[in-house]
Amino acid sequence: MKSFLAPLIASLAMATTVLAAWPINDMCPVDGKQARAIYRVKTAEGPVAFCCMDCLTAFEKAPGKYSVTKKDPKK
Ligand SMILES: [Zn+2]
Repeated sequence: MKSFLAPLIASLAMATTVLAAWPINDMCPVDGKQARAIYRVKTAEGPVAFCCMDCLTAFEKAPGKYSVTKKDPKK
């Protein structure tokens, strides 16, 4: 029984993690380009995505300097 349930629970946990890690924005808050989900940092509001590693680094140095535009949930 235990060996049957373990993979099921593991895959459920993974699916939840992926959804929770989805960025809250579409556009890079640093320069306004299309953000990519692979470049992201966790913030109090949720994961924020950037267009490149340079923007991510710039944001991490001064998070208060940039305003994150959240994506429209209706779209
Ligand atoms: Zn950028």
